[in-house]
Amino acid sequence: MARKTSFICQNCGAVSSRWQGKCEACGDWNSIIEEASGGGIAAAVGGKVARGARFALSGLGWQEPIAPRVATGIA
Ligand SMILES: [Zn+2]
Repeated sequence: MARKTSFICQNCGAVSSRWQGKCEACGDWNSIIEEASGGGIAAAVGGKVARGARFALSGLGWQEPIAPRVATGIA
């Protein structure tokens, strides 16, 4: 299988096929780094992934409480 290159955002993990200055997924600038991929998910299932970035999982507890509603007067 041909070796491909992926561009992975180091902030959110989004993968794109070309380099971009801004991640379209999370909007972070200069966070996309070129990484060699061994053929995608099929290769990852069959064997060890050659390279990749580890991301610590975070819970959903960071979300702000629901903001108070504002009456607009529009029915
Ligand atoms: Zn991102």
